[in-house]
Amino acid sequence: MDNYTKILTGAFCFAALGCTTDANREKQRTDDRPNIIIIFTDDQGYGDVGIFGHPTISTPHLDQMAIEGQKWTSFYTAASVSTPSRTGLLTGRLPVRSGMCSDGRRVLFPDSKGGLPQSEITIATALKNVGYRTAAIGKWHLGHLPEFLPASHGFESYYGIPYSNDMDKVDPADHFTLAEEERFEAYNVPLMRDTEIIERPADQRNITRRYTEEAVAKIREYSNEPFFIYLAHSMPHIPLFRDEAFKNVSLAGFYGDVIEEIDWSVGQILKALKEERVDQNTLVVFTSDNGPWHTFRTHGGTAGLLRGAKGGTFEGGFRVPAIFWWPAKIKSGVVRDMATTMDLMPTICQITGTPLPDDRVYDGYDLTPLITGTGKSERDYVLYYRGQQVYAARKGNFKAHFITQNEYGTQTAHPITNPPVELHNAPTYHDVPLLYNVSIDPSEKFNVADEHPEVIEEIRRMVEEHVAGVVPVTNQLEIR
Ligand code: MG
Repeated sequence: MDNYTKILTGAFCFAALGCTTDANREKQRTDDRPNIIIIFTDDQGYGDVGIFGHPTISTPHLDQMAIEGQKWTSFYTAASVSTPSRTGLLTGRLPVRSGMCSDGRRVLFPDSKGGLPQSEITIATALKNVGYRTAAIGKWHLGHLPEFLPASHGFESYYGIPYSNDMDKVDPADHFTLAEEERFEAYNVPLMRDTEIIERPADQRNITRRYTEEAVAKIREYSNEPFFIYLAHSMPHIPLFRDEAFKNVSLAGFYGDVIEEIDWSVGQILKALKEERVDQNTLVVFTSDNGPWHTFRTHGGTAGLLRGAKGGTFEGGFRVPAIFWWPAKIKSGVVRDMATTMDLMPTICQITGTPLPDDRVYDGYDLTPLITGTGKSERDYVLYYRGQQVYAARKGNFKAHFITQNEYGTQTAHPITNPPVELHNAPTYHDVPLLYNVSIDPSEKFNVADEHPEVIEEIRRMVEEHVAGVVPVTNQLEIR
């Protein structure tokens, strides 16, 4: 056999082998319903991604994901703090409907006895019921007692810290400081595998890397079947931690390092999807649970040009960076239409052919027309709840603030981001609501209430009708 024949034969064998492998893979995966991955970061602000305008945080994987997919610029959470925000995302319903928000305790704590009620149907429950493989990784914060854990809400596996990474302080008087780096032992938070604690305190220094490895392992394990992976990073919620490999890599300091490790994580996930050849038919959604925590200054991120932060009802608390990626179906570009995390439940049901339960109220709308570039969604409003009350509402381009209040955990307003109107902790009830055109004025600087009384009345009626229709339920956050 001459060299040329050898090369040809080799090439043929290689091609044939490749074909066989492809054929097997095709054969193994007979169910072509799309896979779903939701990557949900904690307290990452609207401005904390390169492609959303951060000048010094480098996020090449997220930027590329947005270029290949869609960057959403008016994407909102269900609440500007953790527990109710996660409730809204996973159930498609305002947290007030399941008792998962409170005017007192705003989130669940390690001494809480409540959690997401069994009567709620999560995205995972809906998909598991129709044959999807399901995994939750990362922060849960919907109840840490057995009846509330991911295993009780449709997830066949769980690996993560069940609540915020700054809870379970060993010394309650031990205050977080900006200089803190490596003291993970100061927070006695558990790391769980399914319903068992496997490490305590969780070594948070490598938690982003370990969550990522778990997500990649699940992609490989599930790749022959439709799957749903919910990856809720514990970072960049304070106290910040990052792996050795990401120390001092970012021009944006410690916070930048943390975001750049998350960006690396996104890259690892997309790479695994490609290696398993399921990238074309996987919808990946990247977003954050609420805005930046301004109290912690340089460790707290930024909402970019938006006013406000975590815990409040100005845009910076609720509007978050969002990127959708689905190579086979998505129409690439920038989506400026309003959407919320609560829209994911009906959207995912639509694209997977899963019936949306018809025995309850949903606050989400199908986003498929926007994702595929075939039309609009029905959403034309956003409600901004603080605890159990609607503080503000947006309809079309106008947003009315009926009540304003200082942000989460702040004792004094930030001198730059909060004008003096918020310099107090008690709520301010506005007889004439503040009104902003957030399309023209996304920073909510110029009150135009005097010019548009009819708009205020329209929004007021919408809120009153909504509030009248909410059925009171047991408050889960107040149970101890
Ligand atoms: Mg959060």
